[in-house]
Amino acid sequence: MATGKINVSVENIFPLIKKFLYSDHEIFLRELISNATDATLKLKHLTDIGETDVKYGNPVIEVKVDKEGKKLHVIDQGVGMTKEEVEKYINEVAFSGAEEFLEKYKDSAKDSGIIGHFGLGFYSAFMVANKVEIITKSYKDEPAAHWVCEGTTEFTLGDADKKERGTEIILHINEEDEEFLEENRIQELLVKYNKFMPIPIKFGTKEETLPLPEDAPEDAEAETKTVDNIINNPEPAWTKQPTDLEDKDYKSFYRELYPMQFEEPLFHIHLNVDYPFNLTGILYFPKMTQDMNIQKDKIQLYQNQVYVTDNVEGIVPEFLTMLRGVIDSPDIPLNVSRSYLQADGAVKKISSYITRKVADKLKSLFNNNREDFEQKWNDIKIVIEYGMLSEDKFFEKAQKFALYPTVENEYYTFDELQEKIKDNQTDKDGNLVVLYASNQDEQHSYIEAAKAKGYKVLLLDSPIISHLLQKMESEKEKITFVRVDSDQVDNLIKKDEEKISKLSEEEKEKLKGDFEKVIPKEKYTVQLEAMDSDAAPLLITQPEFMRRMKEMQQTGGGGMFGMGNMPEMYNLVVNTNHPLISDILNTKTEKKQERLIKHSLDLARLSQNLLKGEELTNFVKRSFDMVK
Ligand code: ADP
Ligand code: MG
Repeated sequence: MATGKINVSVENIFPLIKKFLYSDHEIFLRELISNATDATLKLKHLTDIGETDVKYGNPVIEVKVDKEGKKLHVIDQGVGMTKEEVEKYINEVAFSGAEEFLEKYKDSAKDSGIIGHFGLGFYSAFMVANKVEIITKSYKDEPAAHWVCEGTTEFTLGDADKKERGTEIILHINEEDEEFLEENRIQELLVKYNKFMPIPIKFGTKEETLPLPEDAPEDAEAETKTVDNIINNPEPAWTKQPTDLEDKDYKSFYRELYPMQFEEPLFHIHLNVDYPFNLTGILYFPKMTQDMNIQKDKIQLYQNQVYVTDNVEGIVPEFLTMLRGVIDSPDIPLNVSRSYLQADGAVKKISSYITRKVADKLKSLFNNNREDFEQKWNDIKIVIEYGMLSEDKFFEKAQKFALYPTVENEYYTFDELQEKIKDNQTDKDGNLVVLYASNQDEQHSYIEAAKAKGYKVLLLDSPIISHLLQKMESEKEKITFVRVDSDQVDNLIKKDEEKISKLSEEEKEKLKGDFEKVIPKEKYTVQLEAMDSDAAPLLITQPEFMRRMKEMQQTGGGGMFGMGNMPEMYNLVVNTNHPLISDILNTKTEKKQERLIKHSLDLARLSQNLLKGEELTNFVKRSFDMVK
């Protein structure tokens, strides 16, 4: 048997790196600035622990565009490299100097914020440049080095006369990548990826308007002054301790994150853990707009203050992706697919930590200022209800703060609600019957009828509410939710004394027959009921179960398989005590009776918002003819 070593040749890998390592060419700049930041943070660390006496000072990283020379420069004042180090760190592809540094200074450097770890970032420069130069001078007392490579495996390494400490990377930009010589484009990239990096980044200069002195005359013109254009805020709010921040700091950080957002966030949650994983961040509850699809200001993911992505799918639980803000964690593996990510143990822990923190915050807001919480309820309920549906842990926790508003603007927790209705809203089997409306206008008459009987009616109008009610019924014992216009309202609440019908059995039978002759059977089941004479003569109700299943189908509950297209089925409840119904019964001419029934049915449909299109047009026309 022969054993051997597979020979991986650099010549073959190099073009692959250039082409496929990063699908997004623009990230080369992020990589170079990350390296410049690392080099500066390394120097800071070495001076901090007294390994060198060079002065750290106030280093900046500078980016310069040379449009004529077709060059882009990234200049730092960090540790720099000796010739030997260039050989080692640059010429050996996939040898990460960042990892080596962290290994060497294991104990002291773990919080130094150093970014790099694959040893491939530098080569992303070749995605946009056909030639790359490095001019670098180490903080150690050694001559500067000059490295040049034209995107092949050949390079030259000589001396340079650079005097100041640090590294300058020069990219000779490809013709097809000339967008990266545009100042606007570079500015845009710097803001996107480096806005919160820890070392100041300078890109050109800008004009700043000076404030006018107090005693300036009214027509005085403000003076401007040329200042460095510093891209980043090196100390963003999420890197600070919550105790050092006030509410206004969180709000101003929100504006910094989303300059185009004019609406203030409702509240924030500061995330801060270092065990068993490292994660910081701030999440904001924005005011939710109805249209969730146009939401483009999303949660941003950072690693050591470097922007990575605003796709946090798999990291943040889905129901919280509607929030805004920042998450920063070096512990999230990024070089793997999203589906793999979801199975990753550390990521799972991160996701459940975030869920817990959000639940805790909501609970404390509820406990500390219930009135305020109630006022915000309508803006936050969609997140909470969605969370209750999708995460069992959150469902449990939410029992303490999830609210159930009534049509009269009272807000109850579920326990409070139960207490309120337990005496007069039960059915014959002892189940608690929770009545709710989904639309105060459309279900107005039903709501009024229920209120008149002394029932509490909730107003639950989220699009996913039928799913949530289904879940509540299965989680809680002896609870049924019934919409006010459902046919079960009267079956379930058996409190009223039986009403006596004015009609005889014979008359009832005839009446039922008369209606069934005219009303389409496949749509309506005719039911006779003795109600008050001033209640509606006809009432359309829908079976709770069927309506809810239909709604769940529409809002896509995932689990609604095989229901096909459910037919529209209604009950037509005929009030045998209403004078109009007696009239219909006693009408002798068949034609006239049919007309009366049809018109009454249309009126009942109209009140349920079921009369539409051509039928509505005809109805209106007919009504005009009648009144003229
Ligand atoms: P990584 O950052 O993952 O270590 P890179 O390919 O980005 O890998 O960089 C390789 C190494 O080259 C770095 O670890 C560092 O040692 C060295 N290097 C790159 N850029 C600089 C720089 N601006 N100053 C000093 N050293 C640098
Ligand atoms: Mg790097």
